[in-house]
Amino acid sequence: MKIMPFNFHNTLKEYNLTLDRITPEILQVNVGKLCNQACLHCHVEAGPKKKEVIKSDTVDRIIEVLANSPNIKTVDITGGAPEIVPDFRRLASESVKLGKHVIDRCNLTIFFEKGHEDLPQFLKEHSIEVIASLPCYSRDNVDKQRGTGAFDKSIEGLLILNELGYGKDDPKLPLHLVYNPLGPSLPPAENQLEETYKKNLQEDFGIFFNRLFTITNVPIKRFLHQIKREGKEEEYMELLVSSFNPHAAEKVMCRNLISIGWEGGLFDCDFNQMLNLPIGGKKVTIWDIDSFDNFNSGKITFDSHCYACTAGAGSSCSGSLLE
Ligand code: SF4
Ligand code: SF4
Repeated sequence: MKIMPFNFHNTLKEYNLTLDRITPEILQVNVGKLCNQACLHCHVEAGPKKKEVIKSDTVDRIIEVLANSPNIKTVDITGGAPEIVPDFRRLASESVKLGKHVIDRCNLTIFFEKGHEDLPQFLKEHSIEVIASLPCYSRDNVDKQRGTGAFDKSIEGLLILNELGYGKDDPKLPLHLVYNPLGPSLPPAENQLEETYKKNLQEDFGIFFNRLFTITNVPIKRFLHQIKREGKEEEYMELLVSSFNPHAAEKVMCRNLISIGWEGGLFDCDFNQMLNLPIGGKKVTIWDIDSFDNFNSGKITFDSHCYACTAGAGSSCSGSLLE
């Protein structure tokens, strides 16, 4: 396959952009690849048979370093299905005790797995923000991407969260949804899609949520394999490169975020983590550092997958960068 020549560093130079690190405010912890689902687009390649799970001593060390990092305001816990990991609740509650805002990236279907029935109540008791994947408001599209039955369980999960007060007016109980395109295209405008989601979910199921985040699929791992199989890799890369937006580039999330993997390694973001591209270009682990606050300058490890974050309105774990 012939893909047009492109180089993310050259593109930044062309637009005279220097995107170095600034004060880190978000710590994103990927606690492992174990998940009760195995979605088509998953950049973690997570699934029910995965063995990679964070160990207790790594969580201990993260909490220690976090206590010494006043600039970190948010702890964003992801996976896999992060809640499956034995130390999830400890990491979340200890982070709350340290005064951090905690986010759980939840797939919603986890509420129906044995041993996790009380999870929604735990999340509420600790005022944990829930960011839940729901790639469409239609059953067919969700089941196509996430597996048969995923949509109905997700709807039920959202109703449970609404019942507890999530997604309504309580600022301590935010519930946001995540949309990502099914195939190799850019997401539509976030505000408009949010309106459509709200209308459909309220009318059809009586569901409420706060914000919709649209996320562009990053061409790595399972999604990359999918578009390669479909012969659409070149087309997708051309779309991403030709949609480069310098205003979005200035806001890429890796500038003020640190990502930690289940083994304690530090990365610029979860995507770089999956590609094993360490922070600052050399391997650093949680045992090598005393505070996350020191990562307030220096280079970010960019590569061609970064065009997904800078295309159109931009993309991050909190949705579009420009809306
Ligand atoms: S629920 Fe999330 S982590 Fe699990 S397979 Fe799907 S996308 Fe990956
Ligand atoms: S994929 Fe690249 S641009 Fe996007 S957050 Fe990661 S390092 Fe930054």
